[in-house]
Amino acid sequence: MTTRRCTICKADTEAARLALTHGEDAPLAVTVHDMPVLECPHGHRQFASADFPLLLLDHLMEHDEPQLPASETKGLLFKHYHCAACGTKLASSPDQPHTFRIDVALPDCPQFNIDLTVPVHRCQHCGHEQLHSLKDVRKHTPAALAHAFKAAEIAAA
Ligand SMILES: [Zn+2]
Ligand SMILES: [Zn+2]
Repeated sequence: MTTRRCTICKADTEAARLALTHGEDAPLAVTVHDMPVLECPHGHRQFASADFPLLLLDHLMEHDEPQLPASETKGLLFKHYHCAACGTKLASSPDQPHTFRIDVALPDCPQFNIDLTVPVHRCQHCGHEQLHSLKDVRKHTPAALAHAFKAAEIAAA
């Protein structure tokens, strides 16, 4: 990570970690742990690099989220969901929220974690927990992440 000047007060910044920040775009909630940032002596924060938010979003949506367990959608007009593990038809509404922990490893950046909390189906037959729809999760990811950055008062570079 390279050090840059604070975009607000022009003081030198140092590499720091943001302990925790949280954002939501219902039904998805995102909690970011130990995210690397740059911080000046006055506590102004900015992204570790100018393209950090885009890299992170891209990594989450293209790499991490597709690995989450998701149910299978069948039917065109009236969708119904089937357990990805055993094929049993699932209840039509998602039941309890479940948190998936993701280890994020971006190039040239120390590793940190993101928790994605979403409603999941728990198969009544085999107990497998799965996303209602991966498409839905991906659709809400940009806004949830943007809210988390805003909550942490991170200035765009
Ligand atoms: Zn500053
Ligand atoms: Zn099942």
